[in-house]
Amino acid sequence: MCAITAGQRGRRVLVLDCANKPGKKILMSGGGRCNFTNLYVEPENFLSDNPHFCKSALSRYTQWDFIELVRKHHIAYHEKTLGQLFCDNSSKDILEMLLHEAEQAGVTLKTRCAITKCEVSEEHNGSYRLQTNQGEIITDSLVVASGGLSVPTLGGSDFGYRLAEQFGHQLVPLRPALVPFTFSDGFKLLSEKLSGVSVPARITVSKQEFLENILFTHRGLSGPAVLQISSYWREGQSVQVDLLPAIACLDYLIKQKAEQPKALLRTVLSQLLPRKLVLELEALWWPLQAEKPLAELSGQLLEDIAEKLNSWDLKPSGTEGYRTAEVTLGGVDTRDVSSKTMESQKQPGLYFVGEVLDVTGHLGGFNFQWAWASGYAAGQVV
Ligand SMILES: Cc1cc2nc3c(=O)[nH]c(=O)nc-3n(C[C@H](O)[C@H](O)[C@H](O)COP(=O)(O)OP(=O)(O)OC[C@H]3O[C@@H](n4cnc5c(N)ncnc54)[C@H](O)[C@@H]3O)c2cc1C
Repeated sequence: MCAITAGQRGRRVLVLDCANKPGKKILMSGGGRCNFTNLYVEPENFLSDNPHFCKSALSRYTQWDFIELVRKHHIAYHEKTLGQLFCDNSSKDILEMLLHEAEQAGVTLKTRCAITKCEVSEEHNGSYRLQTNQGEIITDSLVVASGGLSVPTLGGSDFGYRLAEQFGHQLVPLRPALVPFTFSDGFKLLSEKLSGVSVPARITVSKQEFLENILFTHRGLSGPAVLQISSYWREGQSVQVDLLPAIACLDYLIKQKAEQPKALLRTVLSQLLPRKLVLELEALWWPLQAEKPLAELSGQLLEDIAEKLNSWDLKPSGTEGYRTAEVTLGGVDTRDVSSKTMESQKQPGLYFVGEVLDVTGHLGGFNFQWAWASGYAAGQVV
């Protein structure tokens, strides 16, 4: 996006990518359909140590600007849920659109080009001198758009962070985000047995909560609600899972006991939750009363079960890490970067855009929107 914008202004632009082909994350994103933006982009959808930083760029290149570009290229898309826009056909449509725009703007793209060294060259009036496996490059402006550590097989690398540090930038600590939780306690066995079961749930950590689906996996918990909350979770914390977010469980169970005293608790709960899940919860929470009718279950037991259904306390042992994390939380501290131009305030002519910066979006197309918006901001001035 930065290259396109700068190229359209008549700048001579060279994009260097060490990968064998461009846009690998675009191709893999959104399950192959690229969740390219969101209808409801707000600064509140982004995490950063400096929460105001993202506002300027997001307001100057909005989701509507990107949607207009997608429409101009006649790419069919749809809203999946919660404002998330996906291609009808394939992520390839988005990549081809960007490559076409870049070509039109006169951008040159070099793949398989690894940068081995970057320095300011006094003999070239303070320009940047890059050593690469395809020769030396001298440039006045250098835009770092090298992304984060997530998914090394798709190009995740620490290059941008090292370069930032080389020029005196601080890093906000890095951690994998939008990533599934793993467990080492008894829950691991349970999640293995329930692998593939998905239910809508409210998941909470500290004061942050998300209401979307959770998915049991053979390693632990995944699904959109879990990926979202992982950006707020820290080692050692518990998460609370409300399996019946629309229902006050105790009231419901008391009512069922009065109306269907002969029914079993599992029968009543199976009307609200997948039976497979109810059977596992039964084995965990009321194994001795499994065959007793509701009439024989004490008020205290119903209270305990209702409490767990509405606020199940789970303690992840960790996350699946960068191998599967969709993004890297933290990054180049934005306090030393201009929010208007993305230029370093420590090193003239050096710019940072996209995920390498300490701006991390929620799940739902926000990370791409940040990449488009910050790239556009730099492209206008670079
Ligand atoms: C599996 C997966 C699915 C995702 N799905 C979505 C989604 O649907 N919607 C959404 O909004 N976000 C999604 N994301 C997040 C999104 O892909 C990223 O936030 C976004 O791509 C960041 O853009 P970027 O340009 O900053 O970095 P990247 O897209 O990561 O691009 C960085 C580029 O820099 C290159 N590079 C790295 N190091 C060097 C080096 N030393 N020399 C030269 N080149 C280098 C890489 O090869 C790569 O091409 C997903 C991420 C993953 C991993």
